[in-house]
Amino acid sequence: MSIDYAGFFSGAIDKLHEERRYRVFLDIERIAGAFPHARAEIDGKTRDIVIWCSNDYLGMGQHPDVIAAARKAVAEHGVGAGGTRNISGTNSAIVALERELADLHGKDHALVFTSGFISNDATISTVARLVPDCLILSDELNHASMIEGVRRAGREKAIFRHNDLAHLEELLKKAGVERPKLIVFESVYSMDGDIAPIHAICDLAERYGAMTYIDEVHAVGMYGPRGAGVAEREGAMERIDIIEGTLAKAFGCLGGYVAADGAIVDAVRSHATGFIFTTALPPVIASAACASVRHLKKSSVERDGQQRQAALTKRQLAARGIPVMVSETHIVPVLVGDPEKAKAASDLLLRRHGLYIQPINFPTVPRGTERLRITPSPLHGDALIEELADAMDQVWKELDLPRRAAAEAAE
Ligand SMILES: *Cc1c(COP(=O)(O)O)cnc(C)c1O
Repeated sequence: MSIDYAGFFSGAIDKLHEERRYRVFLDIERIAGAFPHARAEIDGKTRDIVIWCSNDYLGMGQHPDVIAAARKAVAEHGVGAGGTRNISGTNSAIVALERELADLHGKDHALVFTSGFISNDATISTVARLVPDCLILSDELNHASMIEGVRRAGREKAIFRHNDLAHLEELLKKAGVERPKLIVFESVYSMDGDIAPIHAICDLAERYGAMTYIDEVHAVGMYGPRGAGVAEREGAMERIDIIEGTLAKAFGCLGGYVAADGAIVDAVRSHATGFIFTTALPPVIASAACASVRHLKKSSVERDGQQRQAALTKRQLAARGIPVMVSETHIVPVLVGDPEKAKAASDLLLRRHGLYIQPINFPTVPRGTERLRITPSPLHGDALIEELADAMDQVWKELDLPRRAAAEAAE
């Protein structure tokens, strides 16, 4: 008897096809200086498209200062980092970047990782393991990287209903003030575009003696006077023990980090395998990210432009009865409610109109809430927004997708 190994894998893929959530990637070529315009390989042909679903939220990936910093670093230092941080990979560009990030968040120290995913996974698991008998309280909509960190901590966990303060308090009370606790949550939840009640969570943390860990991945660069995130905007940064962010979204580069006071960062640096046993970010990326963080500390033009264009997109879609989900942020989710229809809408937008919006399906969002997630940037001009709204109107007509009364949607 031979074992059909190949069958395990094709079976796993077949299941995704059956559930209509097999993922297809679009092969795109970003064009420096032309964002959000790009080229894509579609049915064997190269076509011009407009990207409407990028997490390079502010177009910083092509900012002249960022490109110049990268060019200079490559010319001076070459490409690779040459090792892990322990073994010859610590370069002056990373050290400067960490200083910049600590200053951004008003913390003593910052630590850079190779991605935001790793920073969450490594830090949450390490911190919870270093705190004896730590109970982790985790928002039910936390990102997969945080869930992975919670899982790998091997500590008891309690999941609280999304942004539900009463439920969080009930769980804190049950644990008691004596037991060490870590509350992990996000500031901006990127699929719905809603925001956590940061001060209220910190109030509870203080009352019940818990540590706080916030993921500001979808907020750094974009909120607060210096782009440190929602906690900065709300004057809550110093109330949070550990702030995590990415260099890959609004900062337009690659990498993740945490910022904190006292010995926390040093302990993570010294204990987290996801930090220790992997090659450092190369100087080219660290320098580019540093230039991006520095720029967004003093410039609000990009933030203001993004908020303006996101609001305009919401208004234009709502005026045509497209069901924009309520969002307090720059994220514009449009409800379709069916995986096949979400994919069909995305396909039509791309093939007929040259507009790229990736459909979002389970398990990223709950079944029945499949959606198109639109992320307007300051570089999506008014004319592009009108073109998008008209195209979506046509697609909604052609596929007979659910609409919402314009007045209701605009509420
Ligand atoms: C994208 C994302 C991450 C991971 O960040 P990367 O730098 O892309 O690895 C972490 N948290 C949230 C909420 C995210 O959406």
